Amino acid sequence: MAVRINSSIQNTLCLLNPPLFSLRYRASSLKLKPQLHFRQNPSRGALFCTCATTDITPQSTEHFVLTTPLYYVNAPPHMGSAYTTIAADAIARFQRLLGKSVIFITGTDEHGEKIATAAMAQGSTPPDHCNLISRSYKTLWKDLDISYDKFIRTTDSKHEAIVKEFYSRVLANGDIYRADYDGLYCVNCEEYKDEKELLDNNCCPVHLKPCVSRKEDNYFFALSKYQKALEDTLYRNPNFVQPSFRLNEVQSWIKSGLRDFSISRASVEWGIPVPDDKTQTIYVWFDALLGYISALSDDQEQPDLLKTVSSGWPASLHLIGKDILRFHAVYWPAMLMSAGLSLPKMVFGHGFLTKDGMKMGKSLGNILEPNDLVNKFGTDAVRYFFLREVEFGNDGDYSEERFINIVNAHLANTIGNLLNRTLGLLKKNCQSILVVDSTTAAEGNEFKDNVEKLVDKAHIHYENLSLSSACEAVLEIGNVGNLYMDQRAPWSLFKQGGTAAEAAAKDLVIILETVRIIAIALFPVTPSLSWRIYAQLGYSRDQFDAATWRDTKWGGLKGGQVMAQPKPVFARIENQTEVEDKGVAVRKTKKSKAKPKQPQEVAGA
Ligand SMILES: [Zn+2]
Repeated sequence: MAVRINSSIQNTLCLLNPPLFSLRYRASSLKLKPQLHFRQNPSRGALFCTCATTDITPQSTEHFVLTTPLYYVNAPPHMGSAYTTIAADAIARFQRLLGKSVIFITGTDEHGEKIATAAMAQGSTPPDHCNLISRSYKTLWKDLDISYDKFIRTTDSKHEAIVKEFYSRVLANGDIYRADYDGLYCVNCEEYKDEKELLDNNCCPVHLKPCVSRKEDNYFFALSKYQKALEDTLYRNPNFVQPSFRLNEVQSWIKSGLRDFSISRASVEWGIPVPDDKTQTIYVWFDALLGYISALSDDQEQPDLLKTVSSGWPASLHLIGKDILRFHAVYWPAMLMSAGLSLPKMVFGHGFLTKDGMKMGKSLGNILEPNDLVNKFGTDAVRYFFLREVEFGNDGDYSEERFINIVNAHLANTIGNLLNRTLGLLKKNCQSILVVDSTTAAEGNEFKDNVEKLVDKAHIHYENLSLSSACEAVLEIGNVGNLYMDQRAPWSLFKQGGTAAEAAAKDLVIILETVRIIAIALFPVTPSLSWRIYAQLGYSRDQFDAATWRDTKWGGLKGGQVMAQPKPVFARIENQTEVEDKGVAVRKTKKSKAKPKQPQEVAGA
């Protein structure tokens, strides 16, 4: 617990950066409006706080800014980071399909004691270490088809400038003071801990390692001043923290009483120096959270907080793991209020992943390596499995058997095989050319309405970040497509010739249109697979890239369109086989070419 002994208020000494706005945030006088808004002042070209009660932020539905955490570079990316980033990417891609101007921010958090220690352990320097690990994140994001727009590193000079300016604003607002701190510190959390939250032997409940006793002369942020404002924010906007069950957790933290926290370290050299006090560096969390803003600044521009804020702040969505909820739902909004900036619209804390029902850990030797998974199964499979299998927000489990079963059943059979066998029949009976427009083919057919209803369902689920349910709705389109194929049995209608064969040719158009719609509706989750489907349907890359959510409407395929040669769009993963190797049973998994199923087989989910 912080003990204020020394109260030399730094801001009385340092007002080098007077605030551009007149508002002084007073938590006590604030009733309704902890969220501050900006309007453009054309004469000054800067943004001014207007503290409005209604939202007049220059943010229309056309903009969507979302962030992943900035990942800590103490070690290469793990599956947890990959999971958050895959989910963020699916959301970003969906929002882009809706026609919104999306800024998808990710990056790396590179300061702090733990980084310096990790670098030293590798016989490296902090900058070299950070370059190396940061690059490994970028490589993995490329392998996972992550379409981020901004990658911010907290060692970027523009970030440092933004942090210093932000710090000075908070200081000028009277929310930073100096005091001695005597407490228990978890180096892995980079956080002082309250004794009552610790386990036996003062162990950190997250890291299960003893906290160390530290005494430091630090700068503190007056979080306690924002108790009421935070309570009001959550009361007025309960959607601020999602899923809703995490809101209770946040409310109870706040209710138990917010204590000021130290935002500088005297003992940590690897960090951004506190403005006007070179003996201290800024606390790594205070530093890293600002990456969400500094990421918005252009590389060319002279970093300027207000100008940067005008480039997209506030974020529409912060996606985080549940373990860092307190930083995002308590500390961060209070920091923003102090600096007179708008709050993000939503903080979504997802759950943790386990493997075969067990927590992953180095000591257990059961860590899931995202690189290994991608190399073994491919990007679409990895993305699809985690988004489909884990109800977004809850904890989820990985097992290889489940992975293979799900991916084969859904992507190879229900979707891939439906396309492949339909194209096969079209090639055999119609020279791979569509006989009519899909609209004409489906006239008076209620099947089309079923597909459209499922698309609407998927849309709603994507909007609500229910990514698993969105996948389920899209897969259901595949299921009804397979059912339609099997009920209509076009292969036997073709044999009958005449009007039966004409009807069969229309049925093929209907099914291909269904698969086309699946490709767009599943694009946020499986972008590469969706492109392969589109290519099979005879579209160019440019046509695919120009597709929007409107293309999930029935009527895309036109009569006369020529389909590509049928070939499987998703290689089925062969089930594990036990192979004897030097007397030791070795588990082997490999990808194989999907064998087109017989038409009479119903592909089930
Ligand atoms: Zn810890």
